[in-house]
Amino acid sequence: MQARMTIEDIDKEFFFHPFTHVREHERVGPLTIVEGHGSTLTDTRGRAYLDAMAGLWCVNIGYGNAEMAETLRDQTERLAYYHTFASMGNEPVARLAQRLIAMAPGSMSKVFFGNSGSDANDTQVKLVWYYNNVLGRPEKKKIISRDRGYHGVTVMSGSLCGLPNMHAGFDLPLPMVHFVRAPHRLWEAEPGQSEEEFVQGLADELERLILAEGPDTVAAFIAEPVQAAGGVIVPPKSYFPAIQEVLRKYDVLLIADEVVCGFGRLGQNFGSEVFGMTPDLITVAKGITSAYIPLSACLVSESVWDVIASGSDKYGVFSHGYTYSAHPLAAAAAMTNLDIIERDGLIPQAKARGERLAERLRAEFGDHPLVGEVRGDGLLGAVEFVRSTDPLTAFDPALKVAPAVVRRSRELGVISRALPAADTIAFSPPFVVTEAEIDEMAAVARRALDDVA
Ligand code: PLP
Repeated sequence: MQARMTIEDIDKEFFFHPFTHVREHERVGPLTIVEGHGSTLTDTRGRAYLDAMAGLWCVNIGYGNAEMAETLRDQTERLAYYHTFASMGNEPVARLAQRLIAMAPGSMSKVFFGNSGSDANDTQVKLVWYYNNVLGRPEKKKIISRDRGYHGVTVMSGSLCGLPNMHAGFDLPLPMVHFVRAPHRLWEAEPGQSEEEFVQGLADELERLILAEGPDTVAAFIAEPVQAAGGVIVPPKSYFPAIQEVLRKYDVLLIADEVVCGFGRLGQNFGSEVFGMTPDLITVAKGITSAYIPLSACLVSESVWDVIASGSDKYGVFSHGYTYSAHPLAAAAAMTNLDIIERDGLIPQAKARGERLAERLRAEFGDHPLVGEVRGDGLLGAVEFVRSTDPLTAFDPALKVAPAVVRRSRELGVISRALPAADTIAFSPPFVVTEAEIDEMAAVARRALDDVA
């Protein structure tokens, strides 16, 4: 019986998909991808798609890179695995840690490795708690996150998400997580408010929350430089400096979640550099290996590290880490990925392609009556749909335009992504995307909108 099943039948029968509507999947089945080269994916029927999302904002060097294959094979033959508990080390991971510290903004000191953005953000919270316990401040444990933030799916990192769909059915968020508004001018600014007033309002809101909770209970604030999954929300340039002024006043640490922005997506190595952030802790994943193999990391600043290091006097062994922490295959892949990005000038290229993307999205959607905003930064772009621009009115959630546009785009050969928090389609192509491919991604999205709305 099983021999006659197609791969789609087998998938439907046995595979529990992440982030998938179970009943819909039972009805329509999977789109099974079998190959990827550059920015192009191919399915089981031989149909090609342009991947406008680099997978999930991550395949930055593009698919099918032969140097990555060679590195993974060589490292597998040399040392496929050894753990790093109890002072055990491996060569690629020591070199990668050194390289990340040299690249990182601010005064970062140490790197802790994990396997996903989710577990890395989870680790960050444990580091923050440990830090305050070492300092003898057991009450200082609450974490502030933002509406529309996306930080992962573990019990803690899911709690840090400011997206209602991430909590529904899972008994999240945990009670020590609190939220402030996102810096999304389209919906959050008062009519006629200047950028300065808008930013001041957000900084004041943060300060009010810290005071209401008690500064002695608030440990950290977590933020993506540009909120990706929450809608590609680009903050005003003055936003993070204003936020950090408040954080410093109350001795609250800043965790920069660079899982999407890190390693060039915004045209510089880190989004923190683009937005004037001086984080105490930085989370990276995705682009660190361009997703050729899972890897994440927590970068820890000197001042935080000094406290954590002194924790061994109080707690003995630092009892945290994963079997796959600092996996040599992943570290070797990251080194080659970073070599390729540097050697091939992929960060300036991402910036240039990002400008093209912004221009094409503005040209295709800028004056459309159902478009509330075209926005982006670096090689991240988004189009947000609204029922009306004057007065600004969202579509009813059941009537969202973005999912229909994305479905139709896929039929037309381009994979983009509908973001659930906003009626928004996102574009985050590989850095190796060509100008012609960018033009096609934008043109297909516009054709799809014309077909569905
Ligand atoms: N943080 C951000 C900003 C992300 O966009 C994501 C994933 O999209 C995560 C964390 C979680 O990463 P992972 O899916 O690798 O657990």
